[in-house]
Amino acid sequence: MEWLLALVVLAAIAYFVMKRRRAAAPSAAVSDTHHPCPSCAAPAPRTATQCPSCKRDLPEGWAPAAGIAIPP
Ligand SMILES: [Zn+2]
Repeated sequence: MEWLLALVVLAAIAYFVMKRRRAAAPSAAVSDTHHPCPSCAAPAPRTATQCPSCKRDLPEGWAPAAGIAIPP
């Protein structure tokens, strides 16, 4: 019966870790001037044509205009 309790505890921990990651990740990089790169998720200037982190080309309009809410 202990294995069932351990399974429930592990599932609860995994749930809260995933929930916390999902909540923290996007908002950290999004700002009025920067947006997460579609390839590596590093913050890149909205006007950039190449990601400063992974050096991939960014297509025109890759970053939504500032002030537009991004759904989770
Ligand atoms: Zn990148």
